[in-house]
Amino acid sequence: MLNDADVEKFRVSVRGELIGPNDEKYESAREVYNAMIDKRPRLILRCSDVADVIAAVNFARENGLLLAIRGGGHNGAGLGVCDDGLVIDLSRMKGVRVDPMSRTVRVEGGASWGDVDHATHAFGLAVPSGIISTTGVGGLTLGGGHGYLARKYGLTIDNLVEADVVLADGRLVTASDKKNEDLFWAIRGGGGNFGVVTSFLFRAHPVKTVYAGPVLWSVDRSAEVMQWYREFMPMASEDLFGFFAFMNVPPGPPFPEHLHTKTMCGVVWCYTGPLENADQVFRPILNFGAPDFALVGPMPFPALQGLFDAIMPPGLQWYWKGDFVRELSDAAIAEHLKHGSKLPTLLSTMHLYPVDGAVNRVGKNDTAFSHRDSKWSMVIAGIDPDPVNNERIATWARDYWSALHPYSAGGAYVNFMMEEGQDRVKATYRDNYERLVAAKRKWDPANLFRVNQNIKPTLT
Ligand SMILES: Cc1cc2nc3c(=O)[nH]c(=O)nc-3n(C[C@H](O)[C@H](O)[C@H](O)COP(=O)(O)OP(=O)(O)OC[C@H]3O[C@@H](n4cnc5c(N)ncnc54)[C@H](O)[C@@H]3O)c2cc1C
Repeated sequence: MLNDADVEKFRVSVRGELIGPNDEKYESAREVYNAMIDKRPRLILRCSDVADVIAAVNFARENGLLLAIRGGGHNGAGLGVCDDGLVIDLSRMKGVRVDPMSRTVRVEGGASWGDVDHATHAFGLAVPSGIISTTGVGGLTLGGGHGYLARKYGLTIDNLVEADVVLADGRLVTASDKKNEDLFWAIRGGGGNFGVVTSFLFRAHPVKTVYAGPVLWSVDRSAEVMQWYREFMPMASEDLFGFFAFMNVPPGPPFPEHLHTKTMCGVVWCYTGPLENADQVFRPILNFGAPDFALVGPMPFPALQGLFDAIMPPGLQWYWKGDFVRELSDAAIAEHLKHGSKLPTLLSTMHLYPVDGAVNRVGKNDTAFSHRDSKWSMVIAGIDPDPVNNERIATWARDYWSALHPYSAGGAYVNFMMEEGQDRVKATYRDNYERLVAAKRKWDPANLFRVNQNIKPTLT
């Protein structure tokens, strides 16, 4: 049992801010990106440095407290916060240091991808990440990380050189392919199961101005667009990435008024090859079936990364489900049309992110991330500002997912899961699961880090 004296002793031992239910900041400090999550932690420590993280891990372990780690707070299932326990909030630890000579970037555990893109862009560099700048580096990386640069440069974890990790016993270790190799293997896909990552070292790549943007077609054309996309995308140069989406057109510029709120299908493109070749690369895309809207052109990479930030601000209700996909059969496309054309709310969507190219060239047992033989990572996201619609968006997402699951590769990207049970976690890691359990037994035998897609220290 925690008593006030213990809490006070903890408070004076740290430099960061310790927030409890009676503090003014408590309500905002416990909020995460998904407003459907409403958890009430006992304490939240906004850590200042690694010493604070160590103190917090020790305090949780010694007092038998449930422990959550908050990176960017973007997790759909709300795994950056917990009821009744201690939250290690890394949001003050956002330092980013770029070394342009070695093309590496050192990033603290609480940074967002916007922080990283801003710092690297000054040197004409970028680290492969996701598609929204407000997402946390911590959770996205530890789950795998896929986005616009995946086909060319791989997952975020494929560009991780080393990480500093605070372990369950309070020690700080570095994991890399030369130090604590089994831990390094496990954190590349195994999520926050093994410790608190206070610092990541990434390889960066020369990416500055990209040729990018959305191309949209009327939803009645979805069958032919999807059939064309499934052939075109895997055969395209790895300089080109395009994720397919069902979406409702936002009611505002740059979209023409006659398209506002209309359900459409489309692809959001990002081309990182030589700009002088862009017209030629985009010719077959813009010539396919006369799109209803196209807004592609050169833009700074961080502008593309922030393209959806305004449409998807924090504080919306989210319910999502995902699966990896090896092929898009005609039967799967028929199910997509049935459900994707009936988006339940303005912001709800379905995305298919390519995970081929460089992602597929890493072996499925080389890192904990197993689905290296899939071509797409699918997410079906029910989204709305109004909690009144929660049941509607969740039912739509579940029904859509159930219809598509038989055509999937079986497991989902851990970062696109709600709390869906142990079988789903196992289906995600497949034959890497046993090795993850062994790593868990070694690095966190008491399962202190369990607010995540949990890998238990025993096989049963
Ligand atoms: C709008 C939106 C767009 C997205 N787009 C993409 C995308 O394009 N590509 C993609 O790959 N994913 C994407 N995601 C999914 C995203 O990767 C996950 O939501 C991820 O969990 C977010 O990480 P976070 O640090 O913000 O989350 P948090 O909620 O803070 O944490 C999530 C999990 O990671 C753990 N964790 C976080 N930081 C650390 C750390 N430093 N050390 C140890 N454990 C840690 C936490 O314990 C928790 O279990 C998107 C999510 C949203 C909401």
